[in-house]
Amino acid sequence: MPPAAGGGGTGRPSAPDRGVIISARRMMARLRDIMAGSDALQARLDKIVRLVASETVAEVCSCYVVRPGDVLELFATHGLNASAVHRTRLRIGEGLVGQIAATGRPTAIANAPEHPNFAYRPETGEDPYQSLMGVPVLRGSQVRGVLVVQNQHRRVYHEEEIETLQTVAMVVAELVAVGVPAEPGSAARPDAPSQILPARLVGLRLNGGLAMGRAVLHRPILTIREMVADDPTAELARFRAAVASMQDALDDLLSNPVLAEKEESRDILETYRMFSRDRGWLSRIAEVIRTGLTAEAAVQRVQNDTHARLGHLADHYLRERLLDLDDLANRLLMHLSGRASAAFGTLPDDAVLIARAIGPAELLDYEQSRLRALVLEDGSSTSHVAILARAMGIPVVGRCLDAMSTIEPWDPVIVDADNSNVFVRPADDVQDMFAGAMSLRMARRRAREAGAHLPAESKDGVRVGLWMNAGLLADVPHLATTGADGIGLYRTEIPFMVRSDFPDVNEQTRLYRTVLDQADGKPVMFRTLDIGGDKFLPYLKDEPTENPALGWRAIRIGLDRPALMRRQLRALIRAAAGRSIGIMFPLVAEVAEVDAARALLDKELERARLLNEPLPERLRVGVMLEVPALFWQLTALLARVDFIAVGSNDLLQYLFACDRASPPLAQRYDALSPAVLTMLRELVARCSEQGVSVSLCGEMAARPLEAMALVGIGFRQLSMAPTAIGEVRAMVRSLTVSQLERYLDRLISSPDHSLREKLRGFAMDRSIEI
Ligand code: PEP
Ligand code: MG
Repeated sequence: MPPAAGGGGTGRPSAPDRGVIISARRMMARLRDIMAGSDALQARLDKIVRLVASETVAEVCSCYVVRPGDVLELFATHGLNASAVHRTRLRIGEGLVGQIAATGRPTAIANAPEHPNFAYRPETGEDPYQSLMGVPVLRGSQVRGVLVVQNQHRRVYHEEEIETLQTVAMVVAELVAVGVPAEPGSAARPDAPSQILPARLVGLRLNGGLAMGRAVLHRPILTIREMVADDPTAELARFRAAVASMQDALDDLLSNPVLAEKEESRDILETYRMFSRDRGWLSRIAEVIRTGLTAEAAVQRVQNDTHARLGHLADHYLRERLLDLDDLANRLLMHLSGRASAAFGTLPDDAVLIARAIGPAELLDYEQSRLRALVLEDGSSTSHVAILARAMGIPVVGRCLDAMSTIEPWDPVIVDADNSNVFVRPADDVQDMFAGAMSLRMARRRAREAGAHLPAESKDGVRVGLWMNAGLLADVPHLATTGADGIGLYRTEIPFMVRSDFPDVNEQTRLYRTVLDQADGKPVMFRTLDIGGDKFLPYLKDEPTENPALGWRAIRIGLDRPALMRRQLRALIRAAAGRSIGIMFPLVAEVAEVDAARALLDKELERARLLNEPLPERLRVGVMLEVPALFWQLTALLARVDFIAVGSNDLLQYLFACDRASPPLAQRYDALSPAVLTMLRELVARCSEQGVSVSLCGEMAARPLEAMALVGIGFRQLSMAPTAIGEVRAMVRSLTVSQLERYLDRLISSPDHSLREKLRGFAMDRSIEI
């Protein structure tokens, strides 16, 4: 249920009386009549605000619509001065109405004029109104307006009332979308030049590689024609039939023999199928149908709610799960419309798929043998679709803004995912150049694949352990294909993030056991839950904080919620049962935290002993070095742990006081700065004095030049995304470590901002593969 956001001291509303529910149904019936009539947009909106005001027993109901220039215009009102209609305008973000539009979330406030965001508009005559409840008018994830009710006397609005208003807002969204021109530029400009010129789009590499082909545009959005249903019972039956047919179709997809061979695809589809059976999701839709919406509108409505709840999150992983849910909602809409079996049209033999966003199952709907590359306007490297594309071996460029509007169907396209470039309608000589590069690359790739069994050993005989990072079961098979030495970082939080409640000990045990089974004797370092910050779990309540990266996260949560941590440790011990296992704790800031975590682990080991459960054959306990403070406690720390894993992603953000998720700051400080390299070199030296192994498992390790520098300052173990292992291995095999060490000795105390260019020059001069 959406929160009665905004607070303002309203407290929690008591349960609604039956009257509220009856009124909701009656309102939908009357809304249906308004929609069925032939009135123009303005007349319909006028009727709707009147209806809402009377049914919600409010003195005012107003509808604001987003107009060009990010302005909200008062479009219809019952209760405010009629002369303010089409005159009163608010910026998005201004006042409470603007805040609702800016956040895309509902608000209910008992004492609105005291709220810091209240913006008083004298022309509307709204001064006597105390309480306000407003919801965004959403179409897809776009805010098209705001629907508000106001009451003269202080009033606490029920969550069910907010829900009803959201349902009405959805109907309004369709009306507005059809009847009000959107932002300028969103419609095709009559004077726009036809797309014939070459163009280059820059995005984000989600899966490396180079491919050429012809563009196919993926446009799954189905328009919903009927919003309000005549017969909710018949609508529910239609919904259930569509769900059953969607689930059958997903089962078929899963039993596809081609996919059955691909562990990664299966794993993702299993998760996906689990989503499709999520009782919470399905019963939410059914509930909305009962209020009088059509099944299609109810699917959309629930999706809007989910976007309102999760769409603002910075966490990529959750945002990607949201895309999976969008995909599922689209799929359900297709089954509702009876168009589920319609093919996506004819594909060229060398299709480059262009999409705003696409779900994993949608990707699999395309004939795999014809897909050469994928270009997304959205997307991140942790998205299921990127993982799947990696498994299918196709290059992916994400965050490629304007791809859908720049590329025309059948355009020739070159996707240079390694450099995050997409060349649209390239000239012939550019095409020739890329064709040459592609054949060269194919030859190199074949050589690398053939080298997966070769040791990562430098020319002067220094062996570097190449380990991989993982977070999904789907990643584990890469251990074999890449020849990685083990899993240096298993991010256990990822399975927790796609669920609606905590997995119990048995479920966790099953998962960790499968990871160990699949690792087949290669070591796995499990990191205990690293949640909090922007890795948000909907079921773990936390107070909002201004600096989440510095907030209640990772081991801080584990130690404050020992039962949670103990359940996970118990599952890890059980999963190991007689085998070796590594456990490490994230975001440790002081040695006392290591002692406290260790004490919980010891309790769990003792418990297993008392219950006669088999203990791990070997248990290695380590910490992530991510908080600089820990560096100054090395003497005590090294006496307590078996290994240290440097989490450079977090360590760098804390060292430089520089948000790792902020794109404008991404280039500001360099991982190859003298400061970072000096600190890490000292760390490696101290660890080797004490015989404690040390590795680095942040993104740094995955880039050949950075990995080279790390080897140069003494690292002999690196853990990285599986896709990077081949390149880093090639770098190590072409390097003479002693030369690099001497070079770095001279360079490391320089006052430079970064040693990057000098190190690059060093590598180029010596033909080191970076
Ligand atoms: C890190 O901080 O470098 C790390 C590996 O952890 P995560 O990226 O999961 O925070
Ligand atoms: Mg980290």
